[in-house]
Amino acid sequence: MTAKIISGKEVAAQIREEIKEATEKLTNENSIVPGLVTILVGDDPASRSYVTAKQRTSKELGFYSVQDSQEADITEEVLLALVDKYNNDPKIHGILVQLPLPKHINETKVLLAIDPNKDVDGFHPINVGKLMIGEANFLPCTPAGIQQLLMRSGTQIEGAEVVVVGRSNIVGKPIANILIQKQDGANATVTVCHTRTRDMAAHTKRADILIVAAGVPNAVTADMVKEGAVVIDVGVNRVGEKPSKKDPNRMVAILKGDVDFDGVKEKASAITPVPGGVGPMTITMLMLNTLKAARLANGLEA
Ligand code: NAP
Repeated sequence: MTAKIISGKEVAAQIREEIKEATEKLTNENSIVPGLVTILVGDDPASRSYVTAKQRTSKELGFYSVQDSQEADITEEVLLALVDKYNNDPKIHGILVQLPLPKHINETKVLLAIDPNKDVDGFHPINVGKLMIGEANFLPCTPAGIQQLLMRSGTQIEGAEVVVVGRSNIVGKPIANILIQKQDGANATVTVCHTRTRDMAAHTKRADILIVAAGVPNAVTADMVKEGAVVIDVGVNRVGEKPSKKDPNRMVAILKGDVDFDGVKEKASAITPVPGGVGPMTITMLMLNTLKAARLANGLEA
């Protein structure tokens, strides 16, 4: 069997089109423009490129977008005051503080300072708790993107044996939580593996849906996968550099997932590539959360 490729690029483009239409309608009929601020502290090149991509996408979708760049030596107090300013700005519906923050700033304190109604990353403990009890407004973006990839590729989630490799707060735990809910697009039976799991392959081989977020290239190989499984590779590992296609004088990172793609695609029924799988979904779900936040702030249904 050669697996069907689940293209995150295509699914993300489709959802962005839906967000664009919904935004146009909201602006024309209700005079509401979804507003997103991205706060970047310091000038880490990776963080800057993430923030630039988020800004570009939000503008393309017709959002009001603010890029707030701060020096790396900003004090925690000043950063907290800045978050508070945006908490009180009615034109801003979503606040994204790009992580990681410099060492002298307590990240948890900053994330806790974001108004949970503007927490479009879905990391505030109130939103984590709401997800747990099945009442989430904002799902964290990468796991939400994974659920959309499964739903929109026609994967049977209800009743499926799902195995998640990885238990981070941003991917592993929330995707497990999303898929066990008694809700459409969920109702799965979920097992979560991590570095202390005794026999990981024994679990992964049972999976109808295998979601891998370990951050380790080739953590999952073909012998660990059941024939016909749907495999979602969340990993993004920089394994080298190559000249850019657009500008051969510029070097770009060679990216690999956590799954041995060539081997596993011969066994799985569907698989996401890296790049072009989960990656494009993350920013798209951030935009969806911002649109939702704008609707909720104005008393409309999400
Ligand atoms: P993380 O915080 O480093 O967590 C990795 C998890 O995987 C941990 O729970 C760890 O177990 C587990 N793990 C590591 N090696 C393992 C192994 N050999 N067997 C079993 N479990 C193993 O990483 P993360 O933030 O969740 O990210 C995971 C990957 O996804 C990274 O490559 C990251 O770049 C990528 N990512 C992509 C996107 C996207 O938009 N595409 C978004 C977020 C993350 P322990 O808890 O026991 O240490």
